[in-house]
Amino acid sequence: MIRRLAIFGATGSVGQSTLDLVRRSRADWQISALTANSDVEALAALAREFQPELAVIADPAGYHGLASALDGTGIAVAAGADALVEAAQCPADLVMAAIVGCAGLAPTMAALATGTNVALANKEALVSAGALMTAAAHASGAHILPVDSEHNAIFQCLTGASYDQVASITLTASGGPFRTMSAAEMARVTPAQAVAHPNWSMGAKISVDSATMMNKGLELIEAHYLFPVGLDRIRILVHPQSVVHSLVEFIDHSTLAQLGAPDMRIPIASALAWPARMATPCAPLDLACIGRLDFEAPDEVRFPATALCRAAIAEGGGRPAQLNAANEIAVAAFLAGRISFPAIVDIVRAVMDAEAPPVPASLHDIFTIDASTRAAAAQRVESLEHA
Ligand code: NAD
Ligand code: MG
Repeated sequence: MIRRLAIFGATGSVGQSTLDLVRRSRADWQISALTANSDVEALAALAREFQPELAVIADPAGYHGLASALDGTGIAVAAGADALVEAAQCPADLVMAAIVGCAGLAPTMAALATGTNVALANKEALVSAGALMTAAAHASGAHILPVDSEHNAIFQCLTGASYDQVASITLTASGGPFRTMSAAEMARVTPAQAVAHPNWSMGAKISVDSATMMNKGLELIEAHYLFPVGLDRIRILVHPQSVVHSLVEFIDHSTLAQLGAPDMRIPIASALAWPARMATPCAPLDLACIGRLDFEAPDEVRFPATALCRAAIAEGGGRPAQLNAANEIAVAAFLAGRISFPAIVDIVRAVMDAEAPPVPASLHDIFTIDASTRAAAAQRVESLEHA
């Protein structure tokens, strides 16, 4: 049966991995929509190859370029944030949510509210609005299929189980490129060093998040919403090889883990084919060749971001949205060479210490917290720059 798939963030790392799988089983898929932020040429090239019904460029300035690039193809063209939401409401069997950041929240919510299953890579959306998103999915009957490798692993391990049978969930973490560095060494790292992840090839923002371990903290919040077993039953374990993608321990102390090569096409394929399976071109797991798997407790002194995230989700309300927004601004400033690496987490903490956000009751409230936090974090970036 041909399935209709919309890919939000088609030009990114997860978007391209998704399209790589689609390319290999082309006859199984009809692409309803492809979207990108501002790279008109890349989106137009993907649209010509995959023939979606609709191509959406988020940046309105890209509209004319995209329209002329796709002129005569029969592919509809749209631009702007509202067009993303409209695209998410179009009929589809599955939406791949692979936009980076809170920018993906509105279309992801729109897909879930419409009742469309969402393959969720865009963790920042769930971190910012987890309660609203899971409620929207529950109300419409849509499934959230986790694409983040750890959450996809947990999702697979939990098949057939109920939450009262779960003793604990352990998220594994590679530890990032600075796992063995001292705090003094980390004060001098460059953006190029931070985006060079030892195991995974990913977009710039998530690579920096992996280096600060903020990624694991965001994933803790993500896990809390996806798998409501209670925060005290969700743990983090450093595993430098990124082969064991996460573990679930049951009340009988039997533990299941999901293993695989560190290749995002494996969890993406799991979400695309769910509840069935599909073939991938990924390397099979060769444990004899890998030889050993190492594990260690996280060091929350050198990497304080996970503790910050745990405190944010424990407090709840608008805290996770605030934390996420401050982190997005701080990571962008670090990537632009404006602040040091340790300043990322310092800024997030300072923004959170300075003001408690209101408890959000609606998506509008989340966007208000997001916008005011971005302004507060941007101010801190400026004052650090001029210090
Ligand atoms: P990326 O930077 O490679 O791609 C991001 C995509 O989002 C691009 O298509 C870009 O055009 C689009 N985009 C960016 N800003 C936008 C905006 N303001 N409006 C609309 N579209 C916008 O990022 P990525 O590494 O593919 O990550 C995407 C998401 O998946 C992130 O939330 C990330 O945390 C999550 N994720 C990624 C990986 C990975 O291996 N890359 C693994 C797990 C989870
Ligand atoms: Mg992950």
